[in-house]
Amino acid sequence: AGAYNYGEALQKSMFFYQAQIAGPKPSWSHVSWRGDAALGDGADVGRDLTGGWFDAGDHVKFGFPMAFTTTMLAWGAVEYRDAYASSGQLTTLLNNLRVPNDYFMKAHPSANVLYGQIGKGDDDHKWWGPAEVMPMARPAYKIDATCGGSDLAGETAAAMAASSIVFRPTDPAYADKLLGHARQLYTFADTVRKAYSDCITDAAAYYKSWSGYQDELVWGAIWLYRATGEAAYLSKAESEYDALGTEPQTSTHSYKWTIAWDNKQFGAYVLLANLTGKQKYVDDANRWLDWWTVGVNGEKVRYSPGGEAVLDSWGSLRYAANTAFVALVYSDKTADTTRRTRYHDFAVRQINYALGDNPRQSSYVIGFGAGAPKNPHHRTAHGSWWDNMTVPAETRHVLYGALVGGPSSPDDAYTDQRSDYVMNEVATDYNAGFTSAVARLYQEYGGTPQAGFPQAEKPDQDEITVETTVMQNEPRATALKVMVYNKSAYPARALTSVSYRYYFRREGTTALQVTPGYTQGCPSPSTATQVSGDLWYVEVDCAGHTIAPAGQSAYRMEVQFKVGTADGGTWDPSNDPSYLAGTAVNRAVPLYEAGRLIWGSEP
Ligand code: BGC
Ligand code: CA
Repeated sequence: AGAYNYGEALQKSMFFYQAQIAGPKPSWSHVSWRGDAALGDGADVGRDLTGGWFDAGDHVKFGFPMAFTTTMLAWGAVEYRDAYASSGQLTTLLNNLRVPNDYFMKAHPSANVLYGQIGKGDDDHKWWGPAEVMPMARPAYKIDATCGGSDLAGETAAAMAASSIVFRPTDPAYADKLLGHARQLYTFADTVRKAYSDCITDAAAYYKSWSGYQDELVWGAIWLYRATGEAAYLSKAESEYDALGTEPQTSTHSYKWTIAWDNKQFGAYVLLANLTGKQKYVDDANRWLDWWTVGVNGEKVRYSPGGEAVLDSWGSLRYAANTAFVALVYSDKTADTTRRTRYHDFAVRQINYALGDNPRQSSYVIGFGAGAPKNPHHRTAHGSWWDNMTVPAETRHVLYGALVGGPSSPDDAYTDQRSDYVMNEVATDYNAGFTSAVARLYQEYGGTPQAGFPQAEKPDQDEITVETTVMQNEPRATALKVMVYNKSAYPARALTSVSYRYYFRREGTTALQVTPGYTQGCPSPSTATQVSGDLWYVEVDCAGHTIAPAGQSAYRMEVQFKVGTADGGTWDPSNDPSYLAGTAVNRAVPLYEAGRLIWGSEP
C-alpha cells in the first residue's frame, strides 16, 4: 500500500505549479530560477491579461486546459482539504489556485467576453528558450456574444465555482467574486452555444474539445450547485445529463475514455452519483471505473505488464492519474464495498506506478524518488540561450514535482529525452488529477514533506561573461574582438544597458588612437578615457541594445576595435590590465549593466 512519501510528492507538485506562473513573479514563489515573464500579455487588446499559467513545456496560455486544471486542483482541495492543511501545503495550494483565478477575472471583463488564449501556438512552439525572454508576439484571443464557446466558458465557470468553495473559509470576499464570475460565465456558456475552437481558431490544433461542450454544461452546473447550494443548478445539471456522449451506435454513456481537459462527463457520473445517489449515475460511474479495472463485457483499458493502465499514447500517466483521483473520490463515498476496494486499490496502484513502482523502478515525477526524469520537454527548465533544444546538453533547472507523459504504449518503456513531447512533456493538466490523488493518499498513508525545500539553485556557470580575442598584435596597436555573452537562466534576463571597459597603460606621453571596427550593433568606440597616471580605458556602451539568452545571435554581442598609438610612439600591450593573449574569458574587462558592475573587476 503506502509505499511512497505522498507528503513530499504533494509538496513538489505545488512547486511545479509555481514554475508555470506567467506575468509578474509573485513574492511567495519558491522557484529561484523563475522571474517576471509575459508582462505585455493583453497589450494588443488594451487590457492587462498578465498572470495565469504557461500551459506545458511551452509558453502559450491556453485557457481551456488552464480552467480544467484549476477545477481538478480545486476539487482535490474540496474533498481533501485536511490533507493540505496537515501536510503544511494549504497556503501554497491557495496561492497556486489564485494564479489562474486572478487571471480568469482579468480575462472575463464583462458578462459575455472571455479571453481564452494568449500566444499563437506555432509561433510559440517554434522558439525554444526561457519564458523571461520570449521574443514573439503573444496575441490575445477571445469568445463573446457573437462567437461564443460553451466548453471554454463552462469549464471556466466550473473552475471558479469549485475554487470559490476552497477560498470560502479563509477569504469569503474572494469566494463571492469568483462565484459572481462563475454564474455569468455559466449563463454565457449556456446561452451562446458554440465550440470555442470555432471562434478561437488557433486553439483548434491544440485543445479542441472533441467531446463537444455538453459535458462542460453538466460539469459547470454541478460545480455551481456545490458552490451555491441552489437547487436550480442541480436540476440544470440533471436535465443536461442525458445528452452526454455515448459509446458509438449505442445509448450507453461513454465509458471507454476518461476525465481529462477534453471531456468531463466521467467526473459528472461520479459527482452526481455522490450528490444524489441515483442509480443511473451510479451505473454510469461503475461501468466507467469497471472498464478501467476489471473490464466490462470482456473489454477493458489496456494494461502494461508492469501495471500501468494506458488509455492513450500521449501523456498516458496523466489519464491514469486523473482516473485514479476520481476513483478515490468515488470509492470514498460508495456503499458498494467490493467496488470501494477495487477502485481504491486501482488508484493506489496507478499513483504508485508513477512514483516508482514499475518495471523500471523509476519515478516519473521530476526531482522525486529514484531514477526520476531529468530532461523534460520544457523550455524554461532547460534554459537554452541558443534557441535550441540540444544546447546545453544538460537541463539547467530541476522542475520539481512535474509528472512527465510516461510510456506511450502499454509496454512500460520510456526514455528520458527532451525532444519527446509525447513521453516527456510536462503540463499543468498532467499534474492536476495527480496532485489531488496524492493529497488523498497522503491523508491515508501520510508522508513527510522535505524540510528546507526548495534550496535556491546555484548557476551552473558564469551566466554573463566577456571574452576577448587579440586579433592582431600590431607594432603600434592591439586589434581586439570583444564578445559579451548572456547565458543567464537563474532567472533568464535580458541586458539592455550593458557597457564594459578595456583597460590599458599608455607608454609615456604617446598620442592615443582608438579605431572603431566591425560591430553586431553596439557602437564601436573611438575614444579613450584616462583614469589616472598611465591608466586608461576604452569603453563600449551598448545602451539601447538588447542582449538576451533568446537565440544564436541574440545572446551575444560582438564589437571590434583597435587601441594603440597614433604617432611613431611605443605601444606595449604586455602591461595592459585587460590584455589577455589569444581568445579567452576575460575577467579583467569589467562588465556593467546600467552602470553597475555585474561581472569581472576593475584594475
Ligand atoms: C511543443 C510542445 C507541444 C507540441 C505539440 C512542440 O513543438 O514544444 O509544447 O506539445 O509541439 O503541439
Ligand atoms: Ca468537452
